[in-house]
Amino acid sequence: MHISHIEHIGIAVKNLEESIKFYEEVLGLKCYAIEEVADQRVKTAFFMVGQTKVELLESTDPEGPIGKFIDKKGEGVHHMAFAVKGIEDALATMDEKGIRLIDKAPRKGAEGLDIAFLHPKSTHGVLMELCEDKNK
Ligand code: ZN
Repeated sequence: MHISHIEHIGIAVKNLEESIKFYEEVLGLKCYAIEEVADQRVKTAFFMVGQTKVELLESTDPEGPIGKFIDKKGEGVHHMAFAVKGIEDALATMDEKGIRLIDKAPRKGAEGLDIAFLHPKSTHGVLMELCEDKNK
């Protein structure tokens, strides 16, 4: 398995618009895309920081994963995502090693990436996402 870099850090926020203001006006970053991912019941905003993105996540459904996360823990870091080559093989290898997979097969995430999540119980407490941009 080859991880090339941290693709993005996912941060759960209550209000996307207000959070974007902080990232733009205080941190001086530029939001380059806003996208709704119906499958994950979120609206996302993206900022580029070097080759890594910050992905802000606002829930569109209180029963969705981000809605539940905010309800339990409040706003904050939700997951980190590694860019990998050969996501299917990476998942198969991890399955063999007994790592608990939330997604046994990749699905489509924001920006058309193939993504899959690993369970935090198997990763020392971090919700990890693998992603691969097959258009590259
Ligand atoms: Zn993500």
